[in-house]
Amino acid sequence: MKASIITIGDELLIGQTIDTNSAWMGAELSKSGFDVYRMTSIHDRREEIIYALAEAEGKCDVVLITGGLGPTSDDITKQTLCNYFNTSLIVNDEVLRMIEGMMIRRNFPMNENNRRQAEVPKTCRVLYNAAGTAPGMWFEKSGTIFISMPGVPGEMKYLMTEHVLPELNRRFTSQIIIHRNIMTYGTFEAKLAEILSGFESALPENIKLAYLPASGVIKLRLTGTGIDHDSLSDSINSQVRKLYEIIPEFIYGEDEESLEMVIGKLLRSENSTLCTAESCTGGEIAHLLTTVAGSSAYYKGSVVAYSNSIKTQLLGIKEDTIIENGAVSEKVVSEMAVAARKLFKSGYSVATSGVAGPDGGTDSKPVGTVWIAVDSDKGTVTEKRVFGNERVPNIKRFSLAALNLLRKQIINQ
Ligand code: AMP
Ligand code: MG
Repeated sequence: MKASIITIGDELLIGQTIDTNSAWMGAELSKSGFDVYRMTSIHDRREEIIYALAEAEGKCDVVLITGGLGPTSDDITKQTLCNYFNTSLIVNDEVLRMIEGMMIRRNFPMNENNRRQAEVPKTCRVLYNAAGTAPGMWFEKSGTIFISMPGVPGEMKYLMTEHVLPELNRRFTSQIIIHRNIMTYGTFEAKLAEILSGFESALPENIKLAYLPASGVIKLRLTGTGIDHDSLSDSINSQVRKLYEIIPEFIYGEDEESLEMVIGKLLRSENSTLCTAESCTGGEIAHLLTTVAGSSAYYKGSVVAYSNSIKTQLLGIKEDTIIENGAVSEKVVSEMAVAARKLFKSGYSVATSGVAGPDGGTDSKPVGTVWIAVDSDKGTVTEKRVFGNERVPNIKRFSLAALNLLRKQIINQ
């Protein structure tokens, strides 16, 4: 079952709009068992559209198309589809009624452009769009299904979910594809690949492993293909169990779980609370923690003790301690964690102090060095990590390292 995706729009080609439609549709097609073999982005130009359609005709089972369905003159997809499928535009009364209703609800007068949106190619099947004004269109030619949808991501997703995917799933008794993501932290890709080389070579033919790294988190994605859902699911589960046996120290979660989400779950289950005292991370840890819905149940707040005077005034770190040890030191970061936990009366606290760069490094504390401390009833633990030279990536990496140290402390790892 072959599928391809065509996204139409000048804005996609000059980096003004990122083509998120292709990524989303590709993921959905893949889940439905399609082999997505090409994604093409093209100009709003007649000859480009015709070329892309002709290229897929007869070769693909399904071609998903987005863009160029707006009411303005730069949007030419509908007219071009008419040319390609040798038909002409007619007003669809149901679409006209829907657009009129939408305009009345929004208190806008109908104009000629709105009326033009109710025109559809005579031979297509119309996919009614309750999320916007432009309908989707379904054509079939030479054994290929062509589906044209608006470029607005929310409208495309509506049509895909309500009309396109259910129909495709009905028509194609699909090969099943199952993805499972195992989230790891604490080692680098090359090392993980070395540890898992035996596991990978022993995988059955129909299960593949991919490494997807981002800021120190490495997502291990197992993709299985098969006919029977339950047996494929069992087979992937048994590979996942093996991963837990081989690298238990690195696995922190599954699917799209982040460290901050896992920490939220752990703190909730312990009925405990957390605060942060951040120097070099400048509130990034607080930000990550508060992206999790419901974090107010366990996260109390932060002192962004960026300057030494704030470390002294708000957290009570002695000036002499900072002078003797330097702000980026085990001693200072431990005291920050202990002081913050007292100040916020929380179960756990995390503190960071480091050199994010690009300047400020020394021989003993090069750019990329961070000291992290976690304090709790279990005591204070510290860790020194050294990352790269770039400021923003360093701040992200420092923060994830801090979250991971906290996670390990909560689970006593
Ligand atoms: P259109 O259907 O061409 O009028 O597209 C309307 C709007 O949808 C554009 O202005 C873009 O902001 C957005 N859009 C179009 N194509 C894509 C795409 N492939 N990915 C994400 N957004 C898109
Ligand atoms: Mg457009």
